[in-house]
Amino acid sequence: MIIIYDSFYQKHDSGPTHPENAGRLPGIIGELEKCEFAEKLKFIKPYSATAEQIQLIHSSKYVREIKKLSSSGGYHYLDMDTVVSKYTYECALLAAGGCFKGLDLIFGGSKKESKVYSKNSSESRSEEVLKFFALVRPPGHHAFKSMGSGFCIFNNISLAARYAKACYDIKKIMIIDFDAHHGNGTQDFFYNDGDVFYISFHQYPHYPGTGYYNEIGSGNGKGFNLNFPFAAGTGDVDYAAAFIEIIIPLAERFQPELILVSAGYDSHLDDPLSSLELVDDSYFKIMILISFISRLFCKNRLGIILEGGYNYSATARSVVKTISGCMIDSKLGKASNIFKLKEELELNNIYEPGLKKRNTDVFNSIKKIFQI
Ligand SMILES: [Zn+2]
Repeated sequence: MIIIYDSFYQKHDSGPTHPENAGRLPGIIGELEKCEFAEKLKFIKPYSATAEQIQLIHSSKYVREIKKLSSSGGYHYLDMDTVVSKYTYECALLAAGGCFKGLDLIFGGSKKESKVYSKNSSESRSEEVLKFFALVRPPGHHAFKSMGSGFCIFNNISLAARYAKACYDIKKIMIIDFDAHHGNGTQDFFYNDGDVFYISFHQYPHYPGTGYYNEIGSGNGKGFNLNFPFAAGTGDVDYAAAFIEIIIPLAERFQPELILVSAGYDSHLDDPLSSLELVDDSYFKIMILISFISRLFCKNRLGIILEGGYNYSATARSVVKTISGCMIDSKLGKASNIFKLKEELELNNIYEPGLKKRNTDVFNSIKKIFQI
């Protein structure tokens, strides 16, 4: 498993009391260095995306504005809590480039001719690189074409999806977002796009206010946007049920070629910014399910990108669990179809069909809309 990281990401300064601060990353790295599978992790440095690459999704005016605000020093507020300071522009370029680097490692060697190729991405790929975790900041899923918001400057995961399509022979991408907040920016980029299926789990109602289950995409994108607006107090029983009963059948229908994950750990019980109740192990369970989808449909191709997570210790432990869920090498991780998977999940107490779900009405409405 590849970990994309550079200590330069700590340079993005949101101010001394901001929850999205440089202290988030060292704790994660420390936990990874001492975890039981540390020797299986390969740390790789990112490269900086170019301004031209950022314009795969963002307007040139917005990119110039962030560059200008950064170079003028001090703190500049794009909204009440989205800060641009001296190193923000460089960090945001490096965050996007970190995601591109992971994709280059997965797909390297099979590039299409395109002007967005990075000069840095020509190295040959090791056969076993199929999954990466980009530990980047600033986060991205609340960033829009011409507007940053919710701590986010450039939308890293949307850039990754567009980059994969522009540079590699990939048509269909599934994005799964388990940050506690709805990824409104990501939804917006792909709302009319039937080739990128955006799926979000989030607390609802909650910031940013969007993400109800009736937001299902429009035009060519209708039926390719799925929101799980979960009530406060929701735990992993509902997440597992969502995968088994809804997402895996939809993935079978959609046949994605790449899975990208917006990994936000503010959905953890101990996080100060939401009231969802996932625990460390929940991320292990979720990643077993996502890995199953990536193995069944995408030849194991999976890119994970850090979003939120504001309790340092819970975030660090949960990142380790996330990676262990990707690396599982057991019967559970090798189930050949959904029936086998269900059997194994039940044996391991990860999915129990009889368990009481908190969001049954939401599930029933979604099944009706998506005809499952
Ligand atoms: Zn969040």
